[in-house]
Amino acid sequence: MSDRDTRFKKLSDLGEFGLIDLLEKETRSPVEGVVKGIGDDTAVLRCACRSRVLFTTDMLVEGIHFTQKMPPRGIGHKAIAVNISDIAAMGGSPKFAVVSLGMPPSIPWPLIKDIYAGMRKTARQFGVAIVGGDTVKSPQIVINVALLGEARPQDVVGRDGARAGDEIFVTGPLGRSLESGWHLKFIPRVKESQYLVQKFKPTAMIDISDGLAADLNHVLKASRVGAVIEEALIPQRGRAQLKEALGGGEDFELLFTLSPRHADTLRKRKLKNMSFYRIGTITSDRKGLWIKPRDGKEQALKLSGYTHF
Ligand SMILES: [Mg+2]
Repeated sequence: MSDRDTRFKKLSDLGEFGLIDLLEKETRSPVEGVVKGIGDDTAVLRCACRSRVLFTTDMLVEGIHFTQKMPPRGIGHKAIAVNISDIAAMGGSPKFAVVSLGMPPSIPWPLIKDIYAGMRKTARQFGVAIVGGDTVKSPQIVINVALLGEARPQDVVGRDGARAGDEIFVTGPLGRSLESGWHLKFIPRVKESQYLVQKFKPTAMIDISDGLAADLNHVLKASRVGAVIEEALIPQRGRAQLKEALGGGEDFELLFTLSPRHADTLRKRKLKNMSFYRIGTITSDRKGLWIKPRDGKEQALKLSGYTHF
């Protein structure tokens, strides 16, 4: 940001219009598809009209999703990246975002500046243009991002297409996301999603935000199928226990299903910059989720995961 930052200690020194002015300057570089960005009553965007438009939003609240003790750039990254992850989970590419911030006037200006710097960096990395937003006074920091994405009609993947016999995969190790700081620096799996939808046609896909067990269960319910996963196949982050890999949440890896034929082809591919781990199989019964321990018989998995209320 410009040298005028140093004049401000707190947000209240800057005021809302000052902030909008600063944010606008920061995001003024021309981006494809943006006819008008920040600075008018709405943004004006050019759409690729044969695409499907994907639209998502996510809100982070101080004290619930983050604290002021966490690295502010990481908080900014997360605010954008959770939305990018949802677009990836549908088979799309992220495009345009609006960012709304609620904050107390007493907030130290460098904190807001760094949150915003984190957002901008991640937005730029993934080709997302920040085209508008709003700022309001609020008792704690609230960050809301709404993100538009697009996908070719044939690439859109829902949660409801998994069929008995399909194989289940994830894109990375699971568990201890909060403890390891992964939740503030995870990489939304857009590259993997694009590769999969173009080459393999996943039958169902979701990003793991609530935990492997809970999110796989969303797929099972929507697709009206069951599943068996194998403990020995579930990739675990660092020292994560099985329980943490199943229920920790905020992993932001993709979970997807492939027909046996596509699964076989994917497993034979030698890929340098992407990882896919097969963790189990979709079954026809509707008895929900089962797990096969390293030793012993398959057993029903009691659902655990993060629930908001
Ligand atoms: Mg999701």
